[in-house]
Amino acid sequence: MPQKHDDDYWSVLRMLEWATEYFKKKHVPDPRHSIEWLLADVLGCKRLDLYLQYERPLSPDELDRIRPLVKRRADHEPLQYITGSTNFMGCHIEVNPSVLIPRIETEQLVELLLESTSDLEHSPVTLLDIGSGSGCIPIAIKKFRPAWTCHGIDISGDALSLSEKNAAANDVDIQFDKGDLFNLDQVSKPSRGWDIIISNPPYIGPEEKPSLEKQVTDYEPGLALFHDNPLDVYRPILSYAQQENASLFLELNDQLADQILKLSTGYFPAAKLKADLDKNPRFLLAGLTT
Ligand code: GLN
Repeated sequence: MPQKHDDDYWSVLRMLEWATEYFKKKHVPDPRHSIEWLLADVLGCKRLDLYLQYERPLSPDELDRIRPLVKRRADHEPLQYITGSTNFMGCHIEVNPSVLIPRIETEQLVELLLESTSDLEHSPVTLLDIGSGSGCIPIAIKKFRPAWTCHGIDISGDALSLSEKNAAANDVDIQFDKGDLFNLDQVSKPSRGWDIIISNPPYIGPEEKPSLEKQVTDYEPGLALFHDNPLDVYRPILSYAQQENASLFLELNDQLADQILKLSTGYFPAAKLKADLDKNPRFLLAGLTT
């Protein structure tokens, strides 16, 4: 890496090329994309703008700021934890290691919900997100459905603090409570109960752990990702949704999709799977949409 005493000329292009090679050697996923993201963050510009200023020199101060970020990425820390935020459905969402980094699939889950509920846009719908993490799901939904009452529960106090901060920063009113998906009867709810329940629960079994990237296993919260038997996670959610007579929007492990569908039809006979953009069965919808 460029040292403090290195008086060589560091341009944007040289940093992009040097760090890309450095990340490749360290087996960092998406090496070029990684340095673009970090450099754009330090320079306060868009990634695409870097291409318009290849010859722009990096000042000693900018080099001092980029250096520790490059080091963190070389250790495979996720970019979103390094920069502290990500974008979810147009909302700026702060993230830290107490919460999962929102995935594109979860944006697709929210899009499915929005498509299925366009006729309810102005109705006083109540929605609960189980395992709300950063709060991205209810925050995005409340942006698109301001008339709705949206709550989130999470077992992690650190996640709850962050989701509250994210809701305030996005100027939406959402109630976040401490809650355990294995004790859903204790969740406080509006007097009309829940119309819609949505969740992206931990759905990766221990046998899949070795195939995951280091940036996931070493940095993201195991509590949000793993369960010894992911089917056990869906059972209480299905039972609670049935008891509430709520519609359900769930993200799931495509490897377990058939098993989860079979389990679900015991509670919601018309439950159906939906594919993600990679054509993998990734979501289960029941109620409203069926
Ligand atoms: N989709 C996430 C991943 O692949 C997992 C999310 C979850 O367990 N709920 O890392």
